[in-house]
Amino acid sequence: MLRIKSINITFGSYYQHTMFIEPKNSKGWLEVVCGSMFSGKTEELIRRVKRARIAKQSVRIFKPKMETRYDKAKVVSHDDNYLDSFPVDSASEILDWIDGIDVVGIDEAQFFDDGLPEVCNTLANAGKRVVIAGLDMDYLAKPFGVMPNLMAMAEYVTKVHAICMQCGSVAQYSYRFSKKGGKVQLGEKDQYEPRCRACFIKGMATQTAGRRR
Ligand SMILES: [Zn+2]
Repeated sequence: MLRIKSINITFGSYYQHTMFIEPKNSKGWLEVVCGSMFSGKTEELIRRVKRARIAKQSVRIFKPKMETRYDKAKVVSHDDNYLDSFPVDSASEILDWIDGIDVVGIDEAQFFDDGLPEVCNTLANAGKRVVIAGLDMDYLAKPFGVMPNLMAMAEYVTKVHAICMQCGSVAQYSYRFSKKGGKVQLGEKDQYEPRCRACFIKGMATQTAGRRR
């Protein structure tokens, strides 16, 4: 058992390392980096795009205009790592700004309109590498916006994980303390925390019990 496990890990890391050094002139493809809040999605997007830039490829990152949590014209991760970005009103607007661009980054993909998967396909079909980062689930643990479609269409999907703030396990849920507000609520650490399955369920049950009281 142990032996098989170690072979899988070796193969997995080989695969991870080779998939991002494909030559510039290869055909296009889609990569999705998904996970909960605080899972390092944006850091991973920035890392990949920076490496493409080091490889002398022209890159541009887009994000929806509504995402104004930190800075209007930058993609900023929680650890202040950033790259300049292009805020757009709609997914289709991306197509107006990709002349001469080899690698297209898309951040906060879950907030884009329904047109994003088709736009991403168009870009990949035109030979571009598209790196997409987004929340895969909302605060109710439901698949978020266009993310399921993007994950289905992508060649490569990487799910990154946070650490559960309750127990230290691997976390995949964005637990929200506040009961107010709709699905689209942007937040910082005081409103959300990453939780594992067991701690997420426990928290949701407590909130429901609180409502009935
Ligand atoms: Zn936990």
